[in-house]
Amino acid sequence: MSGDSTVLVLNAGSSSLKYSLVDATSGKAFGSGLVERIGEGSGSLHHEGPAGRHEEDRSVDSHEDALRLALQAFEEHGPSLDDAGLIAVGHRVVHGGDRFSEPALVDDGLLATVEELVPLAPLHNPANLEGMRVALRLFPDVPHVAVFDTAFHQTLPPHAYTYAVPREWAEEHHIRRYGFHGTSVSFVVGRAAEMLGKPVEECRFVVMHLGNGASVTAVDGGCSVETSMGFTPLEGLVMGTRSGDVDPALPGHLNRHLGWDVVDVDRALNRDSGLKGLCGSNDFRTLLQKRAEGDEGADLAFDVYCHRLRKYVGSYYAVLGTVDALVFTGGVGEKSPEVRAAALAGLERLGIEVDEERNAAQSSAARDVATDDAEVRVLVVPTDEEWEIARQAAALAR
Ligand code: ADP
Repeated sequence: MSGDSTVLVLNAGSSSLKYSLVDATSGKAFGSGLVERIGEGSGSLHHEGPAGRHEEDRSVDSHEDALRLALQAFEEHGPSLDDAGLIAVGHRVVHGGDRFSEPALVDDGLLATVEELVPLAPLHNPANLEGMRVALRLFPDVPHVAVFDTAFHQTLPPHAYTYAVPREWAEEHHIRRYGFHGTSVSFVVGRAAEMLGKPVEECRFVVMHLGNGASVTAVDGGCSVETSMGFTPLEGLVMGTRSGDVDPALPGHLNRHLGWDVVDVDRALNRDSGLKGLCGSNDFRTLLQKRAEGDEGADLAFDVYCHRLRKYVGSYYAVLGTVDALVFTGGVGEKSPEVRAAALAGLERLGIEVDEERNAAQSSAARDVATDDAEVRVLVVPTDEEWEIARQAAALAR
């Protein structure tokens, strides 16, 4: 473990804490883990270190308990945090509103601003805040850096981030498109430019982050110029449990005809829709399995998913004018040749042609799956949000 670029990356969710000890230069993770079901009476810890995997069930009352448990796991199962020479703690923070376009040092002012932004991310920001407060207490001697999921999209031009609703909504209530997945997009854009051998400033990409959540981003010269997630992560593509785009009149209709209130509608569109709503499972592997067995719901879910993706590729192509590469990342984007092939089939006139054999080859390496002659490259780039957070935190801490 080198002593001059090690960062502890923390991702505090409402009932979980993910952690990873990362070398910011190489991206190597020395140890990582997850504490789950915080405050739910029956918690658990999964820790991976040099000695292998350690799992333990125990009740975890608070984020402070969770972080103490993680520190204890480092002490007992390695690697030693004392020997790591931590240069920073990097925190994933979901919503930076229009206040943060860069990573920022965590201090009282930052905590107060993130608190002000809680109405924009009522589930995520309070957990992120708690994670930062606890970590500041336990690691008072190293710089803490907040890395925002929205920051990368702060370059969106007004015509892309403005909704066509009364102007006061934006002015008084900050209602606009923000975009998410920025840390991941920022990481894969850097890798994609390296693969093309061009400076990122000269590249135009359409980046598809397809995980449990999913989004598409148009990137021009390293800057996000359009993205499919909006005021919240609900907008855009079909996701594991989120509907993505629906007619905005739907909530009113559900209210009038089924008596659902906003909480019901919110839950239904965020948790019971998407792939889960269409075929009963939010897990893409299960969907593919069911589809192979001839399940009609799974077949339809696959088609709806790929059709939506294709529409976004086409519209972002038009936004950019020319495209150097389409970039797939996230669990589905990296591992499903079926999705890549279906979403891009028949687009030769746009210079897009997937090579069947290259696309089908399973690999965990970054790779180009377009045909040799295709004008637009089709890249599969494994994302690494922890490394990106570590890198951004280290850069600021230094
Ligand atoms: P998260 O968004 O939570 O970070 P991931 O990026 O890991 O999640 O993506 C999770 C999704 O990737 C799940 O739907 C999972 O089924 C899917 N996935 C994982 N492996 C495969 C695979 N081999 N083929 C297709 N989908 C996969």
